[in-house]
Amino acid sequence: MAGLSMQTMAQAPSMTVVARDGRRPLAVTSINNQDYVSVDDINAAFGTTAREDRLAGGLTITARGRSIVLTENQNVVSVAGRLTTLPAPPLRRDGRWYVPADFLPRALSSALDVRLDWRRSARLLIVGDLRVPRVVARVDAGTTNVAVTFELTPFTDTRVNPQPGRLIVQFDADALDLSIPLLPSQTFVTGIAPGDTANTIAMTLGPRTASHRVTTTQADAGTGRITIDLLPATTDTAPAPAPAPPSAAPDTRLVIPTLGPSTGLRTVVIDPGHGGEELGAQGASGTLEKEVTLSVARRLRTLIESRLGLKVFLTREDDRAMSLDDRSAFANNHHADVFLSIHANTAVRPALKGAEVYYLTVERADAEARRRADENATTLPALGGGSRAIDLILWETAQARHLEQSATLAGMIEQALRPRVEMSPRAIQQAPFRVLVGANMPAALVEIGYLSNAEQETQLASASYQDHVAQALLEALMKFREFIEH
Ligand SMILES: [Zn+2]
Repeated sequence: MAGLSMQTMAQAPSMTVVARDGRRPLAVTSINNQDYVSVDDINAAFGTTAREDRLAGGLTITARGRSIVLTENQNVVSVAGRLTTLPAPPLRRDGRWYVPADFLPRALSSALDVRLDWRRSARLLIVGDLRVPRVVARVDAGTTNVAVTFELTPFTDTRVNPQPGRLIVQFDADALDLSIPLLPSQTFVTGIAPGDTANTIAMTLGPRTASHRVTTTQADAGTGRITIDLLPATTDTAPAPAPAPPSAAPDTRLVIPTLGPSTGLRTVVIDPGHGGEELGAQGASGTLEKEVTLSVARRLRTLIESRLGLKVFLTREDDRAMSLDDRSAFANNHHADVFLSIHANTAVRPALKGAEVYYLTVERADAEARRRADENATTLPALGGGSRAIDLILWETAQARHLEQSATLAGMIEQALRPRVEMSPRAIQQAPFRVLVGANMPAALVEIGYLSNAEQETQLASASYQDHVAQALLEALMKFREFIEH
């Protein structure tokens, strides 16, 4: 057939066979962009034997007295008399037989009567009941520290062993199904790689790391995470307070930090709304909410770091999509003492303008709202007229425990914004914003203006307006810090 002459064959990254007695590579060949393994290599690795019937175009593989019968170019194989389908057919090339990698879990596994788990993305074939958790690493770089998080599925006990210049993360497992991202440019950690043994990861520390802090979180459904915060020397975390910029209200100078270890407010997570393909609100002149929110978040981070010496993390550092739950989960993982979500508003009525501050409402949504919440994309009547999209969910407990402090925080934000920017007639509101629900700390959401209002769109896009908002939020955080620490 013409199609067969088009087939391409190339060497592919090998797989690692992980068994109780050790690890060994198994060669993989890419044929038509599918992973194939040669039957000769399978025989060598698993002690099976094969006998070819050239006349019938078939091959019989014998494993523990059971027979697997393959036919060239046929997706169906017989395993001890039972038929099994493969995603691609066995092929014969240059006198050798090849089977798709899925032959291992789908056919060879039942013939050998042993579990074979093919993890394609990690290129691991796990033999038998080994504990091989999936470990996905993430590196969040702030300007004054770095957090390395390992998401574990399933959760396993973990120990972090310091060595000179390194941290060895040891998992209670037989091997790891490991995914490591490219490291962002920073000087806290210079390498994350598989360790000397199959159940360890070695982190090579950079010159800026002076100490570390380990936090383990076991989530539901058997998953969990370990977060390793890499911290600089103390003098590094607390830059000398900069003089108050002229726009600051006079009283802000009274709460410029004492630089010792603080006890209540240490870490702030700022959440720039939207990102990536999710643009958020869009002004008539093309101003995008996702860009305004990121810009304000960055300005606010700079202010907090230089004026308060607190740790600040942004839920996103760049233009990327992120789920609402991941945003509050990020704040929880980073042990934020305050979570601030920043948005810009939109309304059908172009006259609507002004900033609004929200904290979570815990009134039970009515049945209709709940039904629409289940459909996930929900439009509620706007409180000031028009309509707006809002995310609703059934109420969880995390944010509910902090509502009193969240209300205080929202009030302080409203007071700090009012002298600097125009406020909406309903400047402070409670609303069921999903991004706040899971946040396990005082949390507020600020709609810093209406992009649907032409005048406000121009303001929102300007550096001066963004700076005013950031300055107001800084002042609110200073007041809030004083409130919770005294
Ligand atoms: Zn928004």
